[in-house]
Amino acid sequence: MTATIIDGVAVSRATRATWKERVDALRARGITPGLAVIIVGDNPASRVYVRNKARACGEMGMHSEIHEYPEDARSEDVMARIAALNADQAVHGILVQLPLPPQFRVSDVLEAISVDKDVDGFHLRNLGGLVTGDVVFPPCTPHGVMALLDHYGIPLRGADAVVVGRSNIVGKPQALMLLARDATVSICTSRTRDLAAYTRNADVLVVAVGRPRMVTGDMVKPGAAVIDVGINRLPDGSLTGDVDFDSVSRVAGHLTPVPGGVGPMTITMLLANTVLAAERFSDGRARQPAAH
Ligand code: NDP
Repeated sequence: MTATIIDGVAVSRATRATWKERVDALRARGITPGLAVIIVGDNPASRVYVRNKARACGEMGMHSEIHEYPEDARSEDVMARIAALNADQAVHGILVQLPLPPQFRVSDVLEAISVDKDVDGFHLRNLGGLVTGDVVFPPCTPHGVMALLDHYGIPLRGADAVVVGRSNIVGKPQALMLLARDATVSICTSRTRDLAAYTRNADVLVVAVGRPRMVTGDMVKPGAAVIDVGINRLPDGSLTGDVDFDSVSRVAGHLTPVPGGVGPMTITMLLANTVLAAERFSDGRARQPAAH
């Protein structure tokens, strides 16, 4: 079998076109959705991600601003910036690019972002909402994965779903989103004794580990939908996922490439959350705090 390749670029383009109509509607009423991104240090990958996010905002007719801090920035200064952005009427979404240097307590930083502007969906209120089914801004990468699965009509109800990886930003929210759609979900980690025994049983397999090509064709159920979240840079500078594309594409029913699969959807969902945030401010579901 040769897998259908899930085209994240095409789905992303179509999804952004729909959200662009909502941007245009807001702008017609004098509201330009705005995203503020805070970046600390010079992690090259983070810089590329931040640049791509700002560029994508521009293409959508949205406002974006980047607040850069050196590697040795004081936590208090970044927290003060977040407080100012929370009160800034031109900013509807705030994102702090991770990872942060060790002088930061990541949880404190994420909790400082106003829930109404938490477009990355990492505030405890949003993560908790995934558990209770009351989420405002779903985390972008797992939300993008769900959008891809839906776009390709992959059945989820009653499906055996396996998520490899349990990070707070991908694996755990992904598992909760699949559970909410009535999949039977297993989560595998570095401590899982027999990973292949789980992955071979998966109708839907989402891999978010950060190890190049660790999932091979012999670990995949024939016809499964395989979503590769991993982004790994090889010594020659090229990007590859956590899934061995050649061997898995001969077994799976659907497969995302890297690049061109989940990556574009992550940014698309960030744009969507920012537009949603602006709509919530404009219709009174959210309120801007007064500037100090
Ligand atoms: P983390 O490093 O936070 O988590 C990795 C997870 O993989 C951990 O839960 C770890 O288990 C698990 N793991 C490690 N080794 C194994 C193994 N041998 N078998 C099974 N599980 C294993 O990574 P992230 O979730 O932040 O990111 C994962 C990947 O996704 C990265 O490549 C990252 O670059 C990419 N990514 C891509 C995005 C996109 O837009 N496409 C967005 C975000 C991330 P344990 O908990 O036991 O240590």
